[in-house]
Amino acid sequence: MFSMKTTSITPNLTQLTRLHFVNAFLVREDDGFTLIDTTMGGAADALIAAASQAGGSIRRVALTHGHGDHVGSVDPLKEKLGHEVEVLMPELDARIHAGEKIVAGKLPGSWPTLRTKPDVLLVGGDRVGSLEVVASPGHSPGHVAYLDTRDQALVAGDVYTTYGSAAVSNHFYARFPFAAMATWDKAKDLESARALRALDPAILAVGHGPALRQPGAAMDRAITRSSK
Ligand SMILES: [Zn+2]
Repeated sequence: MFSMKTTSITPNLTQLTRLHFVNAFLVREDDGFTLIDTTMGGAADALIAAASQAGGSIRRVALTHGHGDHVGSVDPLKEKLGHEVEVLMPELDARIHAGEKIVAGKLPGSWPTLRTKPDVLLVGGDRVGSLEVVASPGHSPGHVAYLDTRDQALVAGDVYTTYGSAAVSNHFYARFPFAAMATWDKAKDLESARALRALDPAILAVGHGPALRQPGAAMDRAITRSSK
């Protein structure tokens, strides 16, 4: 079993890091945890163990987007957790996983075949417990972020990475080039980076890299660099 590094970010938010570079998150709710993203395959047992160590069980699995390093353990989680645990996926990425061709040309990034059909299709403005779903397309067509309405912590998926400093995933960044390589629409991704900055989050938590506190200035610099 792979171990997860556990980092408490706020009383409501725990970051789970696998192999130093892929994050999932536990969001505390009254009934247990919402798990945001699942990392790659083979992580289900470690994710379940991390939740029980944090004092609850996983009640639902909400995904930021359909790439393999985020949805990789959805199938075994669904099997182990049972059907009452819902899987929530952004609508467009779920349609891509279902085999629909919704964009012209080849989609970058890995889109592994999933057995699990999501129980809930998400669009911007939806609520998942305390989280508001924020449409943030570009890295993938359906990409969403999650804003905790209790404390303004933002789980931004792959719109930003935070290795060394914050960077928008629309351009090649030597510290973590994989995010840019997987990005579908660079202009939309930058637009989404701006929209997430405009939420003025208290915390920026991302799929790849450490969480940042009071991230406004770092997000501004990232947007400036990526707009050049
Ligand atoms: Zn991605």
